[in-house]
Amino acid sequence: MTSANERARRPIRVLPPALAARIAAGEVIERPASVVKELVENALDAGAREIRVEVRGGGLTLIRVSDDGIGIPPEELPLACQRHATSKLPGDDLTQIRTLGFRGEALPSIAAVAELTLVSAADDSGVGRRLTLRDGAVAVDEPAPRPRGTTVTVRRLFQNMPARLAAAGRPQAEVALIGQTVRRLALAAPHVRMTLVVDERQVLQTSGSGDRATTLIELYGPALAGRLQPLGPFEVAGACISGLIADPEVTRPGRNQVHVIVNGRWTQPRGLLTTIEAAYRPLLPRGRHPVLVLVIETEPEKVDVNIHPSKLEVRLLAEQEIGRAAGELIRTVLGQRPRSLQLPAQADFDPLATAPLVAEESSTYDDDGPIVTPGLPPLRLIGQVQARLLLLEGSDGLYLVDQHRAHERILYERLKALHGAEREEPFVLPDPLLIELRPAQAARFSRRLDELAALGFRCEVFGSHTFLLRAAPPMPGVLPGLSGDALAALGQPDELLKTLLALADEEAAGETWKERLWVELACRTAVRRGRPLERPAMRALVEALGHTAAPAVCPHGSPLLLRVGEELIARTFGW
Ligand code: ADP
Ligand code: MG
Repeated sequence: MTSANERARRPIRVLPPALAARIAAGEVIERPASVVKELVENALDAGAREIRVEVRGGGLTLIRVSDDGIGIPPEELPLACQRHATSKLPGDDLTQIRTLGFRGEALPSIAAVAELTLVSAADDSGVGRRLTLRDGAVAVDEPAPRPRGTTVTVRRLFQNMPARLAAAGRPQAEVALIGQTVRRLALAAPHVRMTLVVDERQVLQTSGSGDRATTLIELYGPALAGRLQPLGPFEVAGACISGLIADPEVTRPGRNQVHVIVNGRWTQPRGLLTTIEAAYRPLLPRGRHPVLVLVIETEPEKVDVNIHPSKLEVRLLAEQEIGRAAGELIRTVLGQRPRSLQLPAQADFDPLATAPLVAEESSTYDDDGPIVTPGLPPLRLIGQVQARLLLLEGSDGLYLVDQHRAHERILYERLKALHGAEREEPFVLPDPLLIELRPAQAARFSRRLDELAALGFRCEVFGSHTFLLRAAPPMPGVLPGLSGDALAALGQPDELLKTLLALADEEAAGETWKERLWVELACRTAVRRGRPLERPAMRALVEALGHTAAPAVCPHGSPLLLRVGEELIARTFGW
């Protein structure tokens, strides 16, 4: 929105009750990503040119947002953490909101569910004030060295709230949401240099160039370079519409990359989105969506931002007119763009014949940015090859992943992690499985029951030589019905029982036997080669693989990851 030099600081004050009561209330802090959103919005409102976001443990351990904005004067720091205290509504007028925040609720809401530390300086003396709130009470209050700007640190989020903690997903899921949040905020503020660091690794950074196309490419990948067309600018109903749209062959399977930014706020105005979609629908393949950034600037009184607790939605008063005009702009650009063929001209080559093929290939190109994991470099998913390999792009070359062995590695580590540690609850099968054995086999199987239970396999004696398998370790992609399992039944669940039986007969004992069981189970139940995969499953596989201890080899020690290096490519082609 406004930059630091233009932004004059106004004093923080507690809103009068009547005004506070008119503010759309609701739970603002639902997940770690909501904390990130609120803190970055505060930094943007403070006119920051550089914002650094750091998270650890999916944001549940730590979230830190530092900015070089106008800062908070020391005497106002305690006030900033009070309910309905804000510097952004000086005139009591909810129709004149030019900032992202205005409710004075974020900091107190965060302080209620976490330990909150603010370090801020509002001048260039080099000294500011540090304030830590723990369980709602001041735990630290002291002067602290600090150049102008603010650092907010949130530790142990939701630790005092078991229900909210349980509702938060695995750290990697929270990190994905945080990444999405930061990308949206960064796209809405192209003049701000934004950095996201996850568990000490920088996962994204914008240059703060001020150029929207550059920012989009920095956030969503170089594949967009040279394929973005400007929209507008166009004046309608007192609003200025502008933006960017990618060439028609660059499409996405979901609406993830349809961005609408109203007065500097990334938002989802439902009515407008419907109108826009109706406009591009006939011009794009079925079920596909464009890469689109629509920027709308209008007078603050022509937008109602006070309709949604986390301010995700806004209502534009001239929604119909703006939507129609935006749709028209999009239709014109998409309709005029030729399907681009980036192929060398060849005499015996008919470009038209292959056009749909090329378009199809690029349209299946990556949608939600690189896959970032601790164990692998950031990788951009290209697709599946020969129904058995995943093809990915890293900054240093191409990567091939053997889908079967990748799944094997994931399952193996899951089973192993469950053993003893009991970090994951066994998955209770909707229908217990019946295991019938010959008497001698049954005797040997009974001796394994405790060991199997320690591995998460709950078997019960059901008859003289019959057993019931009631629960198994949560094996993603193998056991159907696991919630949030993007691999959904790709593996071989019927192999599970067979493996248990075969291994029960094994003579080996103790650790050797367990190791064999893990390896065999992983190998036999993992997704087969030859199985076509949907993109979410491919992403889930690579994501989970990157969180294993040895993402390059399967449990048998065979390679599963092949890199075709940039150097090799350059050397081969003699570039
Ligand atoms: P709101 O943003 O709705 O005003 P918050 O609880 O998020 O409410 O913040 C309260 C006040 O604290 C803000 O109005 C602002 O004056 C001050 N503040 C918070 N974060 C920052 C920051 N990063 N830089 C400068 N001032 C800040
Ligand atoms: Mg705020």
